[in-house]
Amino acid sequence: MTIQKFQQQIEAIYFKKDAKRGLPLTFTWFVEEVGELAKEIRKEQHDIDRLREEFADVFAWLSTLASLLGISLEDAAEIYAEGCPKCHATPCEC
Ligand SMILES: [Zn+2]
Repeated sequence: MTIQKFQQQIEAIYFKKDAKRGLPLTFTWFVEEVGELAKEIRKEQHDIDRLREEFADVFAWLSTLASLLGISLEDAAEIYAEGCPKCHATPCEC
């Protein structure tokens, strides 16, 4: 699945709901999901299935925020296509 397909899928599933909720409240949900990912990362024994789910949730909420602001995540990711955006090297030499 490409980043663009993912964003389109999340829009198809949640955009109406997220647009109705609005940007400020949707952002707090995103932060809450980041917190849940942090909890999974902090565990001494990593549960790969739980980590996978939390990464998916964070990515979904990030995607919906981008959609609410009219940002294409695929286009945003292009900023890193040619290496570090500052020094343009891969790996970064900054
Ligand atoms: Zn750099």
